[in-house]
Amino acid sequence: MPCKLCGENKKLVDSHIIPRSFFAEITTAGEILRQIASEDGIYPKRSPKGVYDNILCADCEARFSHWDDYGYDFLMRNTNITEIQGPDGAVIAVNLGECDANLLLMFFLSLIWRAHHSAHEMFTGVDLGPYADRIADLILKDGEGTLDDPHYAVALSRFNAPAELTGLLNPQRAEYDGINHYKVYLGGYMAALKVSNQPGLYPYTEFYIRAGMPVVAVVRNFNNSKELKVIGKMLRKPENQDVGL
Ligand SMILES: [Zn+2]
Repeated sequence: MPCKLCGENKKLVDSHIIPRSFFAEITTAGEILRQIASEDGIYPKRSPKGVYDNILCADCEARFSHWDDYGYDFLMRNTNITEIQGPDGAVIAVNLGECDANLLLMFFLSLIWRAHHSAHEMFTGVDLGPYADRIADLILKDGEGTLDDPHYAVALSRFNAPAELTGLLNPQRAEYDGINHYKVYLGGYMAALKVSNQPGLYPYTEFYIRAGMPVVAVVRNFNNSKELKVIGKMLRKPENQDVGL
C-alpha cells in the first residue's frame, strides 16, 4: 500500500492517529467513570494505549511529531490556565493563554486527516471528502498559510471531568447551523474543528483560536452531557462487560 501522504510505495510504519501521550493516564478512567456513573453493572472497557494504523511511511510520519508535541504541551501541560467565573462563582470558562495558533490548528487538522485515512473502527465517522487532499497539501507545506485559509478554524470547550474520560469518545462529524465541523475529544477537551467553505457563525467565531489572542475554552458539565450518556450506553453493551480494568 502506498503512503497516504507522499503516495510512494515505501514500508509503512505504525502511526498514532490519536497521539499516544493523550492516553498516558487513561488507565484510571474506568474507576473514575464508575464513580461518576454510579450505576451497578457498568464495567468500563479497557481503554486503548493509543490508536494506531499503518498509513504513513517513516519520513512522512516524522512530519507530524511537532504538531502532536505542541498540542499535548499546550492542552495538557499548560501551567498558565486561569479560571473564569460567572456571576454565581461557578467556573464557566478557562483561559489557556496565547498559543501558536498555526501549530495548534495544524495539530487538529493533521489529527483529523490521519483519522480520515485510518481504517480503524473508531474513525468511521470521519470522511473529509475533497478536503483530505487540501489538508494533505497543508501538511506537506508544514502548515504554511493554514491560518489564512478560511476553510479551517477550531474552538475549544472543556469538560469539568477528569481529562482521561473523554478519550473514550470517537471523533464525530457535526453540523452547527449547517456548517460542517468535526468534534474531536482529547484529554478532557472537545475541539469543534470547522472544515467548510462556509464562514464560521457567531458566537462560535468568538472562540476560534487566532494569533495574538488568548485561547478561551467554555467549560461544560460532564455529568449532564450527552457524551456521558453515550459512554454509559457503550459500556452496557455485552461485549464491553467482561473487560473491566
Ligand atoms: Zn510517505
